[in-house]
Amino acid sequence: MIKLSNVTMQYAKSTRPALSDLTLEIDKGEFAFLIGPSGSGKSTFFRLLLKEDRQTSGDTWVGDFHVNKLKGRQVPKLRQSIGCVFQDFRLLQQKTVADNVAFALEVIGKPASTIREAVPETLEYVGLAGKANRMPQELSGGEMQRVAIARAIVNRPALLLADEPTGNLDPETSEEIVDVLDRVNRGGTTVVMATHDRHIVDSMRRRVVEFNNGSLVRNDDYGVYGIG
Ligand code: ADP
Ligand code: ADP
Repeated sequence: MIKLSNVTMQYAKSTRPALSDLTLEIDKGEFAFLIGPSGSGKSTFFRLLLKEDRQTSGDTWVGDFHVNKLKGRQVPKLRQSIGCVFQDFRLLQQKTVADNVAFALEVIGKPASTIREAVPETLEYVGLAGKANRMPQELSGGEMQRVAIARAIVNRPALLLADEPTGNLDPETSEEIVDVLDRVNRGGTTVVMATHDRHIVDSMRRRVVEFNNGSLVRNDDYGVYGIG
């Protein structure tokens, strides 16, 4: 699903690379945790996969997309195959729960009939049946993150990138959100989750990919958070 071969990424004004000679594969259907201290390159990795940043050298594939060779018109297609969830939810505050999810389909030109079907189905799937007409500010943090997950998966992406999705949530709510991501993964979506949450990583025992200073320092199949 994801393959990087000797990828280096150096920001223009930076002295050292944000990612350094990174070689890494994540298979279709995996759930992988991405860990490492702040500044170790996790967000840069996500931005490379989305072609929001350009790598300096190496090769990157996401599914069938050879990311660093993609031509302009293929970039939106790459991005449509990837769902994204963030620590700060990034909901549209002026839209209802249902409209936040619907909007993700509207902007890629899905017909109204598809949207009418997919939105309630997806809200139910993430545990938000009955909240469709609420406004984001009426929701708890955990509910807001469920909306963000619904928006990210409503188009059935092959890959879901979650950048510290539990960073603003209490431990119990964090576990519920990881349960939702686990369900999405079991449905066939590859999930990569950047996190600092030791408890979640240790309880899930999935792949653990660790970065430090832009380098891959660990890649374990059934990993724990570790001593770092
Ligand atoms: P993480 O997500 O693990 O906190 P980042 O990918 O944000 O790490 O950052 C990796 C390195 O790249 C850090 O040294 C950071 O300062 C640098 N960096 C991130 N974004 C930029 C940018 N837009 N311009 C220059 N340097 C950046
Ligand atoms: P599971 O993989 O959890 O068994 P199913 O694939 O059987 O789930 O689907 C159960 C219901 O959830 C169906 O109505 C299906 O359309 C919906 N569903 C499954 N995956 C998603 C998804 N990624 N986004 C939205 N709805 C989904």
